Amino acid sequence: MSAGSARSEPDAPDSDAMSILVTGAAGFIGSHLCERLLRDGHRVWGLDNFDDFYDPARKRRNLAPALRRPTMHLVEGDVRDEILLDGLMLDVDFDAVVHLAARPGVLASLENPDLCYDVNVRGTLRLLEAMRRHAVSVLLFASSASVYGEASDAPFSEDVAADRPLSPYAASKRSGELLCHTHHHLYGLTAYCLRFFSVYGPRQRPDMAIHRFASMMFEGEPLPLHGDGSSSRDYTYIDDAVDGIVLALQAARRRNGRSSTFEVVNLGRSETVTLDELVESLATALDMSTDTDYMPVQPGVVSDTHASVKKGEELLGYDPHVSWKDGIKRFSDWFRETRSLEDIHVEGHRGPARETRA
Ligand code: NAD
Repeated sequence: MSAGSARSEPDAPDSDAMSILVTGAAGFIGSHLCERLLRDGHRVWGLDNFDDFYDPARKRRNLAPALRRPTMHLVEGDVRDEILLDGLMLDVDFDAVVHLAARPGVLASLENPDLCYDVNVRGTLRLLEAMRRHAVSVLLFASSASVYGEASDAPFSEDVAADRPLSPYAASKRSGELLCHTHHHLYGLTAYCLRFFSVYGPRQRPDMAIHRFASMMFEGEPLPLHGDGSSSRDYTYIDDAVDGIVLALQAARRRNGRSSTFEVVNLGRSETVTLDELVESLATALDMSTDTDYMPVQPGVVSDTHASVKKGEELLGYDPHVSWKDGIKRFSDWFRETRSLEDIHVEGHRGPARETRA
């Protein structure tokens, strides 16, 4: 473990600076979040085990800019490791934890449901228990639009039961939310469960549809489209998702001294893009032509996602503003740039069975 200590203070933090633990810090969302928190003047401890879900070298590159800041501390290890968590929380007096570490991906969870459960559910419980032991009272938990299953009423609002998950991954995320509620009820944890809706942008996971399709277009491979092209996703640009996390942290901080709270909040954009539109937008932004193969729908994958963001707006002041057109252009610019710098491979996620849109 290479944790610094909160007591060795960084360069002139302002009085609002917090000490924040980010699990899954080297991942797509985590690495962007760390940079934002550091820019905002916070002290950040990033915990990540650099697992092999995709190339760990990619994760190290993700985290490199954040690690150049003196107030960023890397802790290499597993969120399921109680001894590590105890040591870290003894060493650092955390104001909040943002729990992003997970085995993501609906289809991956069908291939290895045990591992999905172990990391996403048992890992979350281990973290919650460590927080209880060390009186860390604020948790932001990364949940997912997939918990809605095939919800009937769109846009999806947070007050529906969400008790019909279609995949082990969706069930694991819903279980994580329920565990957060239990710790809120029993021990006064303030918890915000943030349901992300298909986040995209620079550094997006290589198994996710936009990134994977971009790679396949460059390799001249036909894109496997499951269904008839009319399935849809509510895509959220990474900066908007990070804004949502930061706003939840601020909301938790504003409660300082008051009673604890438990909230579930959608972080989507409340606009949907069909699979056919996605392919067309991406091909245009990358200036590439493409072939498509329509294939049967995949088990466990929901056909549509569509967030109501009303609660986020009212509770947090959440205001997603990056349009699909701008966002896909920014992703494509990044993709082209990184592709010209290195030979990007699809990294063992070549089969259509690994495509993930949730
Ligand atoms: P990611 O895979 O890029 O990041 C997850 C990080 O967690 C990785 O760096 C990985 O090494 C780390 N990790 C995995 N298991 C760990 C463990 N046992 N201990 C410590 N670290 C571990 O994924 P992402 O897309 O950035 O997603 C972040 C979170 O948001 C996940 O919880 C995911 O389920 C959730 N989410 C993401 C999306 C999305 O669109 N990207 C949508 C819904 C929910």
